[in-house]
Amino acid sequence: MNKNQDKNQNNIVRLLDNEPVGKTVQVVRVMGDGAFRQRLLEMGFVRGAKVTVLKNAPLRDPVEYMIMGSHISLRHSEASQVEVTDLDAEFCDMEDAFNGIVETEVAAVDPMADNVLRVVLVGNPNCGKTSLFNNVTGAKEKVGNYGGVTVDSKEGWFSIGGRKVQLVDLPGTYSLTEYSPEEMYVRTYIRDNRPDAILNIVDSGNLERNLYLTTQVMDMNIPMVVALNMWDELEKSGDKLDIEMMSRLLGARMVPLTAYNGHGVKEVLEATIQAIDESEQETLHHNVNYGTLIEDCLKELGGMCPELDRYTVLKIIENDQHAIQLLDGKDNATAVKQTAADMRQRIERDYNDDIVSIITDLKYGFVRGALAEALTPNPERTTGETKPGYSMDRLLTNRWLALPILLLLMWLMFEATFTLGAYPQDWIENGIGWIGEWIGNAMPDGILSDLIVDGIIGGVGGVLVFLPQILILFFFISLLEDSGYMARAAFIVDRIMHRVGLHGKSFIPYLIGFGCGVPAIMATRTLENHRDRLVTILTVPFMSCSARLPAYLLLVAAFFTANQGLILMSIYLIGILVAALTAILMSKTFLKHDKTQFVMELPPYRKPTARNTTIHMWSKGKQYLQKMATIILAASIIVWALGYFPRHEGQTPQEQIENSYMGRMGKAIEPIVEPLGFNWQMGVSVLTGAAAKEIVVSTMGVLYTGEADATEESTSLKEKLQTATKPDGEHVFNPIVAYSFMLFILLYFPCIAALAAIKREAGWKWVAFEVVYTTGIAWLVSFIFYQIAIRL
Ligand code: GDP
Ligand code: MG
Repeated sequence: MNKNQDKNQNNIVRLLDNEPVGKTVQVVRVMGDGAFRQRLLEMGFVRGAKVTVLKNAPLRDPVEYMIMGSHISLRHSEASQVEVTDLDAEFCDMEDAFNGIVETEVAAVDPMADNVLRVVLVGNPNCGKTSLFNNVTGAKEKVGNYGGVTVDSKEGWFSIGGRKVQLVDLPGTYSLTEYSPEEMYVRTYIRDNRPDAILNIVDSGNLERNLYLTTQVMDMNIPMVVALNMWDELEKSGDKLDIEMMSRLLGARMVPLTAYNGHGVKEVLEATIQAIDESEQETLHHNVNYGTLIEDCLKELGGMCPELDRYTVLKIIENDQHAIQLLDGKDNATAVKQTAADMRQRIERDYNDDIVSIITDLKYGFVRGALAEALTPNPERTTGETKPGYSMDRLLTNRWLALPILLLLMWLMFEATFTLGAYPQDWIENGIGWIGEWIGNAMPDGILSDLIVDGIIGGVGGVLVFLPQILILFFFISLLEDSGYMARAAFIVDRIMHRVGLHGKSFIPYLIGFGCGVPAIMATRTLENHRDRLVTILTVPFMSCSARLPAYLLLVAAFFTANQGLILMSIYLIGILVAALTAILMSKTFLKHDKTQFVMELPPYRKPTARNTTIHMWSKGKQYLQKMATIILAASIIVWALGYFPRHEGQTPQEQIENSYMGRMGKAIEPIVEPLGFNWQMGVSVLTGAAAKEIVVSTMGVLYTGEADATEESTSLKEKLQTATKPDGEHVFNPIVAYSFMLFILLYFPCIAALAAIKREAGWKWVAFEVVYTTGIAWLVSFIFYQIAIRL
């Protein structure tokens, strides 16, 4: 019965991995199983799809392919799982699969009692959901030009025609299988919340793959509107889409949209409201027609569990474990499972393929059939030619230039952050000093004045000075993300990351980790693989975040005259090295390496918008200020109080501190830090720095100068450190001690905020691990360095 199979045998089937650059072939099948295969199928690697080999990454792995007009990166090992054949080998007729739509009657929905309508945004990663969300709700969520930026759902509200609408921005997904956390999230969210309507955002430049998700959403039998986003790009590309015909063929309302400038937003919203209103009467719902056999199965099984929607029933036939679990507790669960298993067998036998491929093929066949009618590609573009928006790759992922450009960009980013940032930093510092003085003069001497001037203004002020640098750093990160370069960075460095058992995408959290560990840990959500995510989360704190910089700057300025830049850089490099070794160690031991996949989309380059960039900068600045207003403020006051009490008459400030609670704590841990070259003052700074690493410097300020508003710029603190002596007259600090101290600050205990992020992403167990591991490593590295260096 299977003519595809027969034709196959007359053609030479090869592996995609062996195809030369520039060649276009068609997919025969994807080997392997589970998540990897599923992901490739849903990215469009279905029977008959045309794939063009575009280029090898500069380090020869991974490889960039074009499929369905979008650019996908695959490692060699993965491409060798794809069987392909020549284009002229006519081994399948996709049109065969197009059976059009079926109509199901859906009962009327009760109008919402509280009159708040709930609409969810569903779509592929990077199709513009958040842009629309921000535009409609006035929210300021992060928009980025690579997959996986939105990882939570975000809620916002707006009003239209006097009605209040709640809009929910869901994570981007290519499909709704059970294989990735995002997909499970979206599925479960829709099932549990049953929104009044689904607003399906699709990238008009990439309809084939985007509409694949639409075919699944349609089956959920919730009123749906398809927003054809990036309409501006479609028009520019010269492709022509007959929206009316497409709507009819798919059985879904479609409205063109350009989310980032707001064109079409009103129409999209109105169409959505209309769809909801219509659902209050009995309506006909449109679904993909899977052909007689499968349709009959759906009808029969759907009859056995009337409370499940068509999507879930189909998933049960597909042997989706999460869908099958929904049957638990039902009287006829066993019967349903048995029937579904029988059906699966029958379908697989009939189509001579496995169920997942059959359904994927049918869905893609449906989409392709509809597109063949309604979409006229630009006649001037030939097969294998890339769409506009990719031309910069000629330079940016060029075999010879890619790495130098990447390094240059990274260097520029950090140079700008730290040198440009120094100016506003000075102004803020002077301002704070002035305020402190003013308050100090205006208030009578006493505990309250000391608390405000030294504890609060001093503590928080020492941290506020970093705001400009944080803003500049996130300005650059935002540019890199919005333009689409981040995905290229992952593509370029994947080979290296692979060495330590990770994915090129881990590069992004690591990079952000140089700014702040908290957003970096959150950014690991772009990683699909759980193991990769965990390894990245646990190693990100070794990337030296900007909060540690003041301590380095102070120590480097005080104790190194030559090569200050190099010394600073060596600290950063050691952090990277420890992270790499840790990742390798973890991959070899308790977080064993499974086959990590590098199926990543390379979006077209887009011009970053000023709006997005400022939103991102501002939201990061806000996060930082919030951290400061809460954790750091509290910590500054505690640190101040620990050093201020108990009070004794007639002590010098230094004696006072030495006898304070903080001094006692520092002395208690002195034996532990002594082999690293530290004295009790440094021990105390390390203890207080656990709250937030910025506090290391302000604690040193309190301990050595009696002032809390110390910063790395304070000449007085710098001089005090240079001249500080031990009881035996020897200098406390020298370059070796300073370096050992920097190593410790680099590696030990991530701050409280970072641990809070780890807790949220990985749980308490890993927080405990991280605390012990990082502090242990810090002690060991400082110990080895110090003990060797003093003997040289
Ligand atoms: P999400 O991942 O679906 O939330 O997508 P985002 O809202 O983060 O947008 C992805 C990228 O597409 C960003 O760089 C946006 O600026 C860009 N973008 C969004 N909508 C449009 C549009 O209508 N036209 C164009 N040309 N770009 C858009
Ligand atoms: Mg988003």
